[in-house]
Amino acid sequence: MKLSLGCIADDYTGASDLANTLTRQGLRTVQTIGVPPDDLALPEVDAVVVSLKSRSIRADAAVERSRAAEKWLRGRGAGHVLFKICSTFDSTEAGNIGPVMDALRADCGDAIVLVTPAFPETGRTVYQGNLFVGSVPLNESPLKDHPLNPMHDSNLVRVLARQSQTSVGLVDLATLSRGAAAVRARLAELAGKGIGAAVIDAVFDRDLETIGGVALDHRLSVGASGIGLGLARALVASGKVKSGVAGAATAAPVGGPAACLAGSCSQATLAQVSNAEKTMAVLRLDPEQVLAGPGEVRRALAWAGERISAGPILIASSATPDQVVALQSRHGRDAAGHAIEQAMADVAEGLVRSGVRRLVVAGGETSGAVVDRLRVPGFVVGTEIAAGVPVLRAVGAAQGDMLLALKSGNFGGPDFFADALKLMR
Ligand code: ADP
Repeated sequence: MKLSLGCIADDYTGASDLANTLTRQGLRTVQTIGVPPDDLALPEVDAVVVSLKSRSIRADAAVERSRAAEKWLRGRGAGHVLFKICSTFDSTEAGNIGPVMDALRADCGDAIVLVTPAFPETGRTVYQGNLFVGSVPLNESPLKDHPLNPMHDSNLVRVLARQSQTSVGLVDLATLSRGAAAVRARLAELAGKGIGAAVIDAVFDRDLETIGGVALDHRLSVGASGIGLGLARALVASGKVKSGVAGAATAAPVGGPAACLAGSCSQATLAQVSNAEKTMAVLRLDPEQVLAGPGEVRRALAWAGERISAGPILIASSATPDQVVALQSRHGRDAAGHAIEQAMADVAEGLVRSGVRRLVVAGGETSGAVVDRLRVPGFVVGTEIAAGVPVLRAVGAAQGDMLLALKSGNFGGPDFFADALKLMR
């Protein structure tokens, strides 16, 4: 099997968002956690998104991991690789977007790389090289106060040039609006001057389709889920990918017991946990006991063992904001959060060991802790339970076939847990 598209994402949630976008456009897509082992067995897929955590690490480490990911993807036949960054171009003067782009460009030999974080559907547009977040320029958006990478310049031609070894040019909206041939001519002109990267404007979703089509002439592009959407549509339009088969991967049942875990304390999750009491057995962990030692996890697993053959169960650490603040003031925020995440991972491990093969997890950090513990190398992305939350089928997992749903706290409707299990047979 030859991949039509390889993607390297600089963080996990960005990777999930991209994988979901590609699936919705009809690409059968796998998301891997880190660079997969060389022998990872994959089903028939069109795209692989390798999730790295390289956005805020040292530039040399980000380059090394991204190159390893690229090597793996090219080894699986990927003709085009998208380096997936945040749609708000999250980076510092030192990178990591520029250094990774430079290294991947050197590896693949492209003369010039198209770059755009635009995703008009989500309010990210680029005009004259300036990134807008909704109606304001990037440097006036909340990103100006980001704790790790405050963005003080909305002109991406300048931002990227400061991070990169190559000169950076612009393909403006006027050129783009004249169509793919005009974009190709402009890129050739820039490349002829020795310019190795071009920020391209995009204001409407249709712009992404033109960009995707032109990007496929090259071996590398840099951008957010918006250019992913453009690439996916171009692949479907070119007939390289058969549309309409994506999402089916999670339809085949795995059977066996099902469990839900909630570590998110968001408003939406609190309501979802209450609603779940109507359709499944619910255990609320005592957070003080979780911090006191392993007894609370043992109690939860014993509780689950008595009930799980009768139907799905839910185990929640979720608490109201005042309860969370009280616990944090006694133990410290990081210590409390970490201990509860690890306890949820312990519970997940115990449940899977006892035969659970359908697992729903609420909470971004909680999901990360669970997936790390279960050592699942990757997932095929399936149908959406709610906007942005697909059913996932594990690939290459030591535990065998398994369905998961991983959601950020605020996602999903009031009956999210029951909705998820309906699609996870
Ligand atoms: P969300 O997606 O809603 O942000 P996360 O799982 O990312 O959810 O973050 C929730 C954090 O709160 C985790 O670190 C989790 O361990 C912690 N947590 C869970 N339950 C409690 C609780 N009862 N008190 C304090 N912190 C908690």
